[in-house]
Amino acid sequence: MDTKAFKRSLQQSNNYHRKGFGHETEVMGTMNTEYQSSLIQKIRENNYQWQEGDVTIKLAEAFGFCWGVERAVAMAYETRQHFPTEKIWITNEIIHNPSVNQRLLEMNVGFIEVVNGNKDFSIVEAGDVVILPAFGASVTEMQLLNDKGCTIVDTTCPWVSKVWNSVEKHKKKDYTSIIHGKYRHEETVATSSFAGTYLVVLNLKEAQYVCDYILNGGNKEEFLEKFKNAHSEGFDPDKDLIRLGIANQTTMLKSETEQIGKLFETTMLKKYGPTELNEHFMSFNTICDATQERQDAMLNLVEEKVDLMVVIGGFNSSNTTHLQEISIEKGIDSYHIDSDKRILPGNTIEHKPLEKDIETKGNWLPDGKIIVGVTSGASTPDKVVEAVIERIFEEKKASILV
Ligand code: SF4
Repeated sequence: MDTKAFKRSLQQSNNYHRKGFGHETEVMGTMNTEYQSSLIQKIRENNYQWQEGDVTIKLAEAFGFCWGVERAVAMAYETRQHFPTEKIWITNEIIHNPSVNQRLLEMNVGFIEVVNGNKDFSIVEAGDVVILPAFGASVTEMQLLNDKGCTIVDTTCPWVSKVWNSVEKHKKKDYTSIIHGKYRHEETVATSSFAGTYLVVLNLKEAQYVCDYILNGGNKEEFLEKFKNAHSEGFDPDKDLIRLGIANQTTMLKSETEQIGKLFETTMLKKYGPTELNEHFMSFNTICDATQERQDAMLNLVEEKVDLMVVIGGFNSSNTTHLQEISIEKGIDSYHIDSDKRILPGNTIEHKPLEKDIETKGNWLPDGKIIVGVTSGASTPDKVVEAVIERIFEEKKASILV
C-alpha cells in the first residue's frame, strides 16, 4: 500500500481530525483541576526540594506530563465534549497511565478489546468516533476505521509522526529501516507499518549482532530466528542490510539510540568506505525533546546524594522504564511504581523491578533522615506524583511511631 498517499487522502477527509475542536480553555481548566498539584508546584518553586519530618524529597528538574501527552489527553476530553451523544472508542490506552485511562472510561470512552492477541474492531460501527492515542496507530487500523465510516480523532504526537516521515523517506529511497525500539510496543508497531523493509533492534547488543552479520556474514536461519516478529515480511539479511536508515521509538534511552546510530554508521563506513557511505546509510535525529529532557534530568538527579529513588509511571511505559534503568545503573535502590496505592502500610512497597514481575518489599524506607529522589514518566500527572510523595511522608512518620 502507498501509505503516504493513504495518509494524505485521510487527512483531507471531513471525518478525520487532528486538531482540537475549539474547547481548549474549558478542557484545560478541567485537566488542571484533575491532574495538576499545588504541592508539586510548591516543590518546583522551592528549587525541586521539599522536606517534611525526616524525609527530604528531591524531584528531577524535568518529569511528568510531556507536551505530546497533555495534547492527546486534551484532545480526548474535547472529543467527548464535541460529540456528546456519539459512541466514542479509543484504539488503545491514550497514554500509559492507569488513572488517565480510568478517567476516560468514566467519561464513557470505550477501549477496543484485545481478543486472542488481536484487537476486536467488530464492536465499532459507522458513525462512531474513534480516537487514536498519542503513540499512534498502524496504517492498517486507520484504513479499517476509515473504511467503516468512522470519525477519526488522531492524537498522534507530532514527534511520532516525525519518525513515520523518516521511515517513509527510507522506503522511498529503498533503504531498510533499522528501528531502535520494542517490536511489540504500539508506537513501534505503528512506525513499522509505515516502513518498507524494516528490522527492529531492542538494544546495543542486538545492534552489534546485526553489524557483525553485515561485516562478517553469519547464519541466516539463526538471524531470522533471533529477530522473528521484529522484521518485515520476507526480510533477508543477505539482501536487506546493504542500505540502512536509522529510526527509533521516541521513548528509548537516548544514549543507546545514539550509540546504535553510530555503530551502524561505523559499520557501513568500514564495509563501503567514506565515499560510498551516503549511498548506504542515512539517519535523522528523531528522539523527542521531552524524552531527552526527562532522561537528562534523571542523569543529574542520580549524581546527587539520594538514599533511594522512586520512579512513577505505568508499568508498560517505555520512557518510565528507561528512567528506572538510569537509576539502577548508578547502583541506587530504585522503586518503579504506578500509583500511591503501591505504598502499603507497615513500610512496605509493591514495585516492579526491571524485567521482572511486581514484587513486595518490606522496610523499604530506611531508618533516620532520608533523601528520596523522585521522578515520573511522560504519561504521569502531577497529582499522581503528589499522592506518592504524601504517602512517603505518612509512612515514614508511621514507621517512627512504631
Ligand atoms: S514522550 Fe515525546 S513522543 Fe511521546 S508523547 Fe511525549 S512528546 Fe510525544
